[in-house]
Amino acid sequence: MHEAVSLSCDLIRCPSVTPAEGGALDLLQSILEGMGFVCHRLPFSAEGTPDVDNLYARYGTARPNFCFAGHTDVVPTGPKESWSVDPFAAEIRDGVLYGRGATDMKSAIAAFVVAVQRLLREKSPEGSISLLITGDEEGPSVNGTKKMLQWLTENNQDIDICIVGEPTNPTRLGEMMKIGRRGSMNTWLTVSGEQGHVAYPHLADNAAHRLINLLQAITAEPLDGGSEHFQPSTLQISTIDIGNPTTNVIPGEARATFNIRFNDLHSSATLTEWLRKTFDAAIGEGGKYDLRIEVSGESFLTPPGQLSDIISDACQKVLGERPELSTTGGTSDARFIKDYCPVAEFGLVGQTMHKADERVAVRDIENLTDIYEAVLHGYFR
Ligand SMILES: [Zn+2]
Repeated sequence: MHEAVSLSCDLIRCPSVTPAEGGALDLLQSILEGMGFVCHRLPFSAEGTPDVDNLYARYGTARPNFCFAGHTDVVPTGPKESWSVDPFAAEIRDGVLYGRGATDMKSAIAAFVVAVQRLLREKSPEGSISLLITGDEEGPSVNGTKKMLQWLTENNQDIDICIVGEPTNPTRLGEMMKIGRRGSMNTWLTVSGEQGHVAYPHLADNAAHRLINLLQAITAEPLDGGSEHFQPSTLQISTIDIGNPTTNVIPGEARATFNIRFNDLHSSATLTEWLRKTFDAAIGEGGKYDLRIEVSGESFLTPPGQLSDIISDACQKVLGERPELSTTGGTSDARFIKDYCPVAEFGLVGQTMHKADERVAVRDIENLTDIYEAVLHGYFR
């Protein structure tokens, strides 16, 4: 069996459902130490979140430090009956490896480790190679990559360039890499009026009516038309709640929740300012509103250049295809890494991630190993 496929199987057999370590980091650490990596386990904790174990491993001490970032934690399996295999048995059927984490993203870690093994058999890179592996990507992402990056800075372990092994290809390997991501913010809006009898509206102040005006004001126009590397920003209302069980009472309070996915034409700060201005203008005399905002991440872009060229050249060499440079999709830990060095994401096909019967073609793991090997050769030429 291909070394990267057998390592993928071994990792899938570690039941590392977030936040459990499940033996996955132990396994990686022992393999990497055998290859000459110096390993640091970085467990972090914070009130209100589960304790999480993480692994930073570095081969060499010189700069530049080429980093591969990923996670060994996986999402829960869901009902076992919805799987046609044991999610932690790592079964291969007709050239397809099944298991939780097969695409997101244990096989990508395995592919990178084997790519490094091959490189080191050929030469000693001028610089370092490191792996930043968290157990908190699928969880709250509080005790993982973010804190590891702070630790790196405090311990003189700066990274110079980073590839994240998340599944980036929509349908086939080599289709797409991510060079940035949209930002995301969740917003909770509460509008207050005054409760009253529906037959006597002059004695009340209908919060539902005011809420409708506010939501109308923010959805009437598109946020933008997109930018060079990004789709248009979107605002989606996810719930409107009044919870009024009666038909004859004017509600005194009404709530709505919405999410904004935004491109590089905005930041969470400019959008917050826009929301307040718009609501101030739309609320009307005597109305009151309250806004609570949680920012999941700002938008970012690593402009096309050295890193995207190296990955594209590697795909070209192995698959004869250059991937599209995209910024679509949800957030990833790249949102933390972008503050430290250029970062791009390239991994497996994401079609079955987080689903029952998560699976990856064995051939894709083999090709991804070749691609990562070509990326390393492209960087340490
Ligand atoms: Zn993932």
